[in-house]
Amino acid sequence: MMHWSLRRQSSWIQLAGHQGNFQLSDGGEVLKLYSEVEAKCLDSLMRDQLKPFVPQYHGLVTRGEDRYIRLEDLLSGLRKPVIMDCKMGVRTYQEEELTKARVKEVLRSDMYQKMVKIDPSAPSAEEHAQKAVTKWRYLQWRDTTSSTSTLGFRIEGIMMEDGSIQRDFGKVRTSAQVTEALLYFTRSQRDILKAYHTRLLALNDALKNSQFFGTHEVIGSSLLFVHDHSSKANVWMIDFGKTTPVPNTSKLLHNIPWAEGSREDGYLIGLTSLITSLSQAINV
Ligand code: ATP
Ligand code: MG
Ligand code: MG
Repeated sequence: MMHWSLRRQSSWIQLAGHQGNFQLSDGGEVLKLYSEVEAKCLDSLMRDQLKPFVPQYHGLVTRGEDRYIRLEDLLSGLRKPVIMDCKMGVRTYQEEELTKARVKEVLRSDMYQKMVKIDPSAPSAEEHAQKAVTKWRYLQWRDTTSSTSTLGFRIEGIMMEDGSIQRDFGKVRTSAQVTEALLYFTRSQRDILKAYHTRLLALNDALKNSQFFGTHEVIGSSLLFVHDHSSKANVWMIDFGKTTPVPNTSKLLHNIPWAEGSREDGYLIGLTSLITSLSQAINV
């Protein structure tokens, strides 16, 4: 999940995600490696209230051995874009992942290493001794180190107009720190902050009316913030690889804390935090 890459082919930049998952295509499209879960979501989203907030989806294409999802390139037409990827929700793993990880209590040294790198004091004495942690333990711990579990989102990365990438937002945990990051990202330009604010309020309205949103657990999905020197600023919902429907009988609220089994994702908690921090940044 945390493989960072900078790929520059014409204006296209991949800020987060797995390297090799994307290909550039002609005609202002990007190709993302096919997943059935994501393709199904995009299919429904093209017929939902949320359509204006999602890159246009143009179906599937095969390149060599692999199948890809064809998406509108959200950077198309922008010069030296400035980009921020915010991963939404109070948790970034699916309930299913947790259940599987609990059944199969395999010790993972790679996850132990990642944990130590972020916080050497996080592993218990036992975990230090075995130099490994279970995936279950790692998944739960990881979201508490960032603003994910408290604010309902975390900044995955920011790319500035000179192409420099900041990914060191793991320690951004308070609303004030988010405001600071937003001021840095926008270089305190009020018109841009206001445009983002307006767009997120519109998204908030659309989410409340969306049939799709009410019936899907949205995990690991991001809001992609994009602007350039022309003060055009926009926000898009991306990454539906872990977004899954809930049974017909239930509807999710998205604005309450998660309890195991509820499948609540806290997406709206994150959106509210972002809107609050944007308001604060505008009024600095
Ligand atoms: P993750 O590790 O977050 O699951 P992933 O492989 O599912 O990653 P995405 O999160 O969908 O990939 O996208 C990774 C990055 O690629 C985004 O942060 C963004 O910079 C870029 N990106 C994705 N989709 C688009 C798009 N339609 N237009 C422009 N840029 C995009
Ligand atoms: Mg992503
Ligand atoms: Mg993904």
